[in-house]
Amino acid sequence: MRQKIVAGNWKMNTTLAEGIELVNQIVGKIEEVPQDVKLIVNTPFTHLFPVSKIIGDIKCPFCRSKISLGAQNCADKEKGAYTGEVSAKMLASVSKAVGTVAGAPEGATGAPVEYVILGHSERRGYYGETNAILLEKIKLALSEGLKVIYCVGEALEERKAGKHFEVVGNEIKEVLFNLSPEQMKNIVVAYEPIWAIGTGETATKEQAQEIHEFIRKTLAEKFGALAEETSILYGGSCKPSNAKELFSQKDIDGGLIGGASLKADDFIAIAKSF
Ligand code: PEP
Repeated sequence: MRQKIVAGNWKMNTTLAEGIELVNQIVGKIEEVPQDVKLIVNTPFTHLFPVSKIIGDIKCPFCRSKISLGAQNCADKEKGAYTGEVSAKMLASVSKAVGTVAGAPEGATGAPVEYVILGHSERRGYYGETNAILLEKIKLALSEGLKVIYCVGEALEERKAGKHFEVVGNEIKEVLFNLSPEQMKNIVVAYEPIWAIGTGETATKEQAQEIHEFIRKTLAEKFGALAEETSILYGGSCKPSNAKELFSQKDIDGGLIGGASLKADDFIAIAKSF
């Protein structure tokens, strides 16, 4: 059974106070989320520490197991003189630090930063992140025990030119084909057509299913049966009104949600759309 996932990508939104308020609202509604659905909140770096504590403090184990914490990026270098960068090791260290805060109960730890989004089209487009750079980031993230939400997707001109399979196929082959099957077990793929991100325009369920099936078949060329176990998420203007029809498709295992993840009601409604 593939894991059903609804992952929120907060991007560069919310002040720390607003982010804490948002995650408290999500946690307040966590009981509504079906037990077989995993929520992931991918917050800005500045929010990881307090959010780790909030999630770590969820008392009910069933509710706690439904929500994970993630980041939106990590460096392609291990450590050193890279001003402004945040390493995979730093992300992996966040939860351990929660117990060191004054007044924390002995042995207290927060929720680990369990996931990191890599390969988002905004990172590829605005910050020049190539497949080669992304492979380095992924290897470092995996070596620190993080799981990776690896994004792929084509631009509008590429779709119009009928090149979407080629573009997405290359993003898979040039990066994920360099991983071992053991490493691949910790990868979630997110298909996000660039023309649908933040535009209000969503891929039709047929368009999305067609390319999700293609991604799974491509993964199977290298990883065989493991491709059937890999969660493949759809991202691009996914919202409560269209999530159900997208998630009903055979190869769509959930969503990577941008705008709609900033409202707790919408995020939870999407998680209830399987
Ligand atoms: C995203 O950027 O990951 C995304 C899916 O954004 P939106 O849902 O706002 O289109």
